[in-house]
Amino acid sequence: MSRLIAVSNRVADSSNGKTAGGLAVGLLAALRKQGGVWFGWGGRTCHGEPTDPTVIRRGKVSYATIDIDEVEFENYYNGYSNGCLWPLCHYMLNFFHYERCFGRAYVRVNALFARKLRPLLQVDDVIWAHDYHLIPLAGELRKAEVENPIGFFLHVPFPNIDVLRTLPGHRLILEMLTRYDVIGFQTTSDVRSFIEGLSRVGFLESRLGHDRFRACGREFTAAAFPIGIDVPGVIQMSERAVGSATVKRMRDGLVSRDLITGVDRLDYSKGLPERFRAFEELLASYPDTRGRLVFMQIAPPTRGGVRAYQDIRAELERLSGNINGRFAEPDWVPIRYLNRGFSRSILMGIFRAARIGLVTPLRDGMNLVAKEFVAAQDPDDPGALILSSLAGAAEELDAAVIVNPYDIEGVAEAIQRAANMRLAERQERHRSMMGQLRLNDIGAWTDRFLGALEAVRQQECRGGSITDA
Ligand code: ADP
Repeated sequence: MSRLIAVSNRVADSSNGKTAGGLAVGLLAALRKQGGVWFGWGGRTCHGEPTDPTVIRRGKVSYATIDIDEVEFENYYNGYSNGCLWPLCHYMLNFFHYERCFGRAYVRVNALFARKLRPLLQVDDVIWAHDYHLIPLAGELRKAEVENPIGFFLHVPFPNIDVLRTLPGHRLILEMLTRYDVIGFQTTSDVRSFIEGLSRVGFLESRLGHDRFRACGREFTAAAFPIGIDVPGVIQMSERAVGSATVKRMRDGLVSRDLITGVDRLDYSKGLPERFRAFEELLASYPDTRGRLVFMQIAPPTRGGVRAYQDIRAELERLSGNINGRFAEPDWVPIRYLNRGFSRSILMGIFRAARIGLVTPLRDGMNLVAKEFVAAQDPDDPGALILSSLAGAAEELDAAVIVNPYDIEGVAEAIQRAANMRLAERQERHRSMMGQLRLNDIGAWTDRFLGALEAVRQQECRGGSITDA
């Protein structure tokens, strides 16, 4: 088996158990299984050219991290990655803010990654780059004569060309993606957007097979690889955590009221103001729910350097204050809004204790919380999942109660329905979703992606071309 070199913007610290973000959770499981190197930014900025990577080995995984110049980082990360690409990929153009210096820093930081990674590479390695921060990486590695198979997985949605072309230089983004050997997306609809984009700008030369394409003079695989979760791991964590002191105290505090839970990074794509308003609508339109349900939203702040993230925080504080002020009783507070992270095990315990999981992003690549919520349930008395039709997870979890997150009254209705759902229906939906989660767990996801990358290596060794992955 080839050595795996995983590359992502941020290398997560695996030692504190508080890793937030789908990418970190998925990638760590993959690396621990197969062993290899995780390369990326270590979380520190510097001035000027950074030194060589710091390498720390833990078990089967080596963590190789670099610093990035402070100004470069601001423009590459807050400016281009999170101020341009993130809103674009989530179809939220009102948050899109472009400056030319962002794009230039983005390419330079990718060149820096390639320069610092190059000396660590061995001839048999396969390289797997992750997410929208690193679209130009393969091109930069190819310039440095790296011929190893290089794959790319996009954790966020890939926008339709009519949205993508908002971005000055969008043709370069499409071209850079074709420098990879395997390009993975979360859903079939993302693959369609990518291929249609290539075709519309005149880059697509031919379709070689179901998943194989030729564009910009290169052949590659482009396919959907929906990311999964560690199902037995989540089950075990949730069973243990439900008996922990923290979760017990929380349950005692509910005084036998039903818990609705939402767990998200504090991000405008997660639809949190709409979710709060839907809960308000529920209390207003279905008075019997007052005093019966408690909505707990956990939302640790992220990307504090981007203005839109400060704004949404203020908006949610105002909304939760207003709703609690309007409906609270001396012995009942409707919304508990927690602006902080929790250990994964406590989170899984909270999921298990909840009657309803509210996962209503306005757009999401996958949404791992939806999958974790389902896996964390007690199969004998499972909670119901309310899931946005605009999350990638809805393609697989079609037995959830599917809602349009913009339809405030529709979400309120869905909560009312889920709160009254009979045991047999909850069990049936849960059984169906668990079947899907087990079929495509984190191991299957890694195996499928790395299998596609390995097929490229073997074909290159034979000097032929593959027609299908
Ligand atoms: P995103 O990648 O956009 O943050 P996902 O739902 O795909 O969204 O992934 C979020 C991951 O981070 C999940 O695995 C979830 O358990 C974890 N997570 C989210 N919020 C917290 C939190 N407050 N504390 C710890 N882990 C969290």
